[in-house]
Amino acid sequence: MDIHIFNTLTRQKEAFKPLKAGEMSMYQCGPTVYDTPHIGNYRTFVMDDVVRRVFEYNAYRVTQVMNATDVDDKTIKRSKQEGVTLQALTRKYEQMFLEELESLNILLPHHFIRATDYIQAMIDLVSALLEKGAAYAAEDGIYLSISKVKDYGALAHLNIKDPSKERVANDEYDKEDPRDFAVWKFRSAEDGDVSWDAPFGAGRPGWHIECSAMAMSVLGTTLDIHTGGTDLIFPHHTNEIAQSEAATGKQFVRYWIHGGFMNVSDEKMAKSKGNFIKLGDMIEESVSPLAYRYWLLTSHYRSQVNFTYEAVRSAQNALIRLMKEIGRYPAGGAVISAYKERFNAYINDDLNTPQAIALVWELLKDAAQSDADKKATLLDFDAVFGLKLASVPPFEEEPVPPEVQALADAREEARKAKDWTQADALRKEIEERGFELNDTPDGVKIRGRF
Ligand code: AMP
Ligand code: ZN
Repeated sequence: MDIHIFNTLTRQKEAFKPLKAGEMSMYQCGPTVYDTPHIGNYRTFVMDDVVRRVFEYNAYRVTQVMNATDVDDKTIKRSKQEGVTLQALTRKYEQMFLEELESLNILLPHHFIRATDYIQAMIDLVSALLEKGAAYAAEDGIYLSISKVKDYGALAHLNIKDPSKERVANDEYDKEDPRDFAVWKFRSAEDGDVSWDAPFGAGRPGWHIECSAMAMSVLGTTLDIHTGGTDLIFPHHTNEIAQSEAATGKQFVRYWIHGGFMNVSDEKMAKSKGNFIKLGDMIEESVSPLAYRYWLLTSHYRSQVNFTYEAVRSAQNALIRLMKEIGRYPAGGAVISAYKERFNAYINDDLNTPQAIALVWELLKDAAQSDADKKATLLDFDAVFGLKLASVPPFEEEPVPPEVQALADAREEARKAKDWTQADALRKEIEERGFELNDTPDGVKIRGRF
């Protein structure tokens, strides 16, 4: 079955065709390690993880690369503010990031690499751009000339009227203002001792060139997939394409996948608004990272989502319910092929996780399936969900007290006598005592409610 994904490059859902049969290479922009990521960043990292898992579920051999941006405008600024070296700052946050990835059950990418370990590759790329005449030296750095790049801005659908008007030294700037951008920044007082020697002048890389150099160093000149949040389409990914393709003359990335933004209480998360939420804040509010992950899966990755504690708490309740069901199912079942087929169709349709989660609840309610088969099927799906369902401990049934059993027997009698009003009233009474009745192929079962 083909995997269909929405490609930002064409703005269309396309059937994925790998560069090499049975393999998929992907690069994702990782965290800028000057602080711990907020939960919006983690929405994108969970999406990256789900992309990898979906391809692995489809038996692809995946090579996933994620970088840590450990040198850029933001990291340098923060290390100066805190009075620590760039390395002391970035290693600390890198470690915290790895621990948080684990709490979200995000699989560690096959290559988790630091920008500062790939400086030579960045220097080589800048040299190649200079040689090809796509980059030029200015007083404060080496700039990419966007007028020399074929189709500059195609990813972002930019309409550039005057491509050579000015330059921009900063890593981040507005979509309304595309300009020549810095691929290398010459040594400056602001950057202090953060500098590397290079044939075209000592300094440090711009943020955009970092990802181009790292991605191509590990995965080659053309990659299957590159991911990130929608905010990176311009300028970051647009510039990655420009630099890479100007240097190699080959297509850089075949499929671009961008995840939608997460807002908080209908507002964009921003430090200035004081609505920045971290994973640690959520844990303090008794919401587990896995519940957050479950909640993310209930929305499509491309839609904008709105975080509220109310929504994520109700996701947590659903996850607990799911875990309790699995906990009481016996092992030894087989994956139900009709469900697996539907699951596969959903996830291969541009990662439709909300439909796949809905299928889980449909399966739980399906009285025609045995509990053991349900368990086997759910554990199979969990290769994509990543909710750690295999480690749910067995759940002990609460013993049914005699008075509840008596009510259930009375309800059976009422049903036999077709006294539906009485039967319903008795069911209600049972529920009020914290139990529920399930009509199964093997008769009525009584069990504790949650
Ligand atoms: P950064 O550390 O700022 O480079 O961001 C890391 C990743 O998180 C990038 O892929 C961003 O696109 C993504 N991102 C940033 N803010 C949000 C948000 N509010 N919702 C979803 N993704 C985000
Ligand atoms: Zn990047």
